Amino acid sequence: MGQVLRLGVDIGGTKIELAVLDAAGPQLRRRFPTPHGGYPPALDTLAKEILAMEQEAGARLQVGVGLPGLVSSEGVVANAYNTPFNGYPLKPDLERRLGREVRFANDARCFALSEAVDGAGRGARVVFGAILGTGVGGGVVVEGRVLTGRHGIAGEWGHTPLPWMTDEEHPAPLCKCGRPGCLEVFVSGPAKNRDLAVLGEARAMALYVDRLARAFAMAVNFLDPDVIVVGGGMSKHEEIYAAVPERMRPWVYHPRPSTPIVRAMHGDASGVRGAAMLWPEGSA
Ligand SMILES: [Zn+2]
Repeated sequence: MGQVLRLGVDIGGTKIELAVLDAAGPQLRRRFPTPHGGYPPALDTLAKEILAMEQEAGARLQVGVGLPGLVSSEGVVANAYNTPFNGYPLKPDLERRLGREVRFANDARCFALSEAVDGAGRGARVVFGAILGTGVGGGVVVEGRVLTGRHGIAGEWGHTPLPWMTDEEHPAPLCKCGRPGCLEVFVSGPAKNRDLAVLGEARAMALYVDRLARAFAMAVNFLDPDVIVVGGGMSKHEEIYAAVPERMRPWVYHPRPSTPIVRAMHGDASGVRGAAMLWPEGSA
């Protein structure tokens, strides 16, 4: 048996990225536009790209896939509305095409795993990774392993409601998941921009910080992670690290909360990194 390497595949609505992960980080990175001409050709393209990568790497590849939404216990993709794989049995179909097991996880869980293993959450026992971007996602990693849960939704913090809502926040806007008042409609990038248009930058940011503080306090009360790692487009705002910890205090069920809130280290590479890490290092 020759060398075995880990391949991470990051499926998004506009592009799919592949990279082989070794000790130096992602290698042989390759990206192509997400095919939107139906499931069979999309599956075909994905399998061919992975096999081409294997040729190029000159080693057998262990394949991990990160994608929006989730994969059911039967291997069917759900809630990944903007991909050609939604509603289809991608896991068994891809495994048949590649002749091997393929591991799947939600992309926010991949992000949390990547940051927990060797990113901003390195060394922490329980890492909560929060993505604040176009959508709001989350992932929980315990001792280097993604917590999946019974339904594969552990960490879906973005679709829990904003806690301790004020009178002004009622009635809560409807989330695209169909439920009112999800965190996604309050602490995503588009939510901040919606407030920015009405309130101006300073007041919109203050409101954002206040809401994020409540949202993180809820995560701390429930999970009490050792660190919260923040990724996604909103993670560039320094206010999150400077102001949120103080604003969380009144809401945390502890007299002196000290949960560090830190910015992610690996940026856009988190998807491919975390997907490859679904196979622990040396698991070949
Ligand atoms: Zn929702």
